[in-house]
Amino acid sequence: MKQVIVSKFGGTSMGDAQCMLRSAEVAFKQDSCVVVVSATSGTTNDLIALGKTAEKQSWKEAEILLTKIRDRHLKIAEDLKLNPTSSAELRNLFDEMESLAKGINLLKDCSVKAMDTLQSLGERMSSVLCTEAMNTVLRNNKSSKQAVLFDVRDVLRTDDAFSKARPITAEVERLCTEKLSFVKQGKHVAVTQGFIGKTADGMTTTLGRGGSDYSAAILAEGIHADILEIWTDVAGIATTDPRICPKAKPIAEISFTETSELATFGAKVLHPATLLPAMRKNIPVFVGSSFDAEARGTWVRREVKDHPLIRAMAMRKKQILVTISTPEMLHAHGFLFQIFKVFNDHKVSIDAITTSEISVSVTLDDSTLMNTKLIEDLSKFADVQVEENLCLISLIGNNINHTAGLAKQIFDKIGNINVRMICLGASKHNFCFLVNEDQAVETIQRLHAGFIENH
Ligand code: ASP
Ligand code: MG
Repeated sequence: MKQVIVSKFGGTSMGDAQCMLRSAEVAFKQDSCVVVVSATSGTTNDLIALGKTAEKQSWKEAEILLTKIRDRHLKIAEDLKLNPTSSAELRNLFDEMESLAKGINLLKDCSVKAMDTLQSLGERMSSVLCTEAMNTVLRNNKSSKQAVLFDVRDVLRTDDAFSKARPITAEVERLCTEKLSFVKQGKHVAVTQGFIGKTADGMTTTLGRGGSDYSAAILAEGIHADILEIWTDVAGIATTDPRICPKAKPIAEISFTETSELATFGAKVLHPATLLPAMRKNIPVFVGSSFDAEARGTWVRREVKDHPLIRAMAMRKKQILVTISTPEMLHAHGFLFQIFKVFNDHKVSIDAITTSEISVSVTLDDSTLMNTKLIEDLSKFADVQVEENLCLISLIGNNINHTAGLAKQIFDKIGNINVRMICLGASKHNFCFLVNEDQAVETIQRLHAGFIENH
């Protein structure tokens, strides 16, 4: 039977008419059933700026942004020779954008709800355009298939945590079976939006920045796809960020677990949640470049052939180290419980952690400092110290916690760089430690040279 493929194209792959046609060509060659798109490059940022400007400033300033967003899409529409029905659809979206911005401006209030609907317009506009691009490519290739625009909100049911909504998987699956499985008959390609969803009572939500990858994975799970493809502007997952180490190499194959560590600990290739649905349903994920579809790309799978000790490395910038100590906890119990309860109450997620008898150190994104109440609450029962300007370095691979001498090798390679905290043991796939932000690049360069380039 024919494979069911869901392909997602990111913002740069939607950059202009030419990018859209190139992406559509890729989807055609792959014979994808569902094409999930991001907003055109820069549009989500512009829509956020529009919401904020309309809330805080005069209408004149908001209008400048409205025109900018409209013109960008009109230019693509013109280059693609958008058909009259779709042109009308695009104009409706422009009208909705203007009405929303006006409402925000009148009320001088841009709620998270309003912001989500405003941001949803980016994906809704790009999907109208991409449907045209897909149909052009299908026609040029004399395919009998047709591309249809599909409103993802009809199947992507979420909770009402606006701006970071969570998909309700069972509902998504039910709705996909009911409304999206027509793509399996091979007559249609559904072009749909990433990043957005809808609550049970019909409110538009977003899954958080960069959430289109996650949407595509949720849809792949929902329609029981055989393959999920993530098309971006780099040819797959690399051993590290090539901007830091020009000798970084593309990885041909990597396991789900290694990739989720890599995505969580700083590599920008995939939204960290993307792999959850793929892992649940064991759907292999391909990451490739829509600009260079012939390049090999990376396969992410449950089972892989090679299990190198160090496969890749990443850094997560803007980290803080919070150390919580109290001598009262000497030989007492419940200290960790008390601490984690505070983090839980504030919905703050901890990345790495080390403990001693009377202290616990955790790393957090520095944005959590904006919530001063968190530190205040911790300070009620312990002494709290915060160190800033740190960077979490992670080495990703296999058998890391069972390999004798690995720590020595790592610290030999980084030489005189001071290490602030080490996390080893919890995972076979990750070794991470903190360094000062201004030494992070140097640290990665030394490790990459030592573990990957010279191997
Ligand atoms: N357009 C959204 C963003 O820029 C979602 C995505 O691109 O994945 O965050
Ligand atoms: Mg993106």
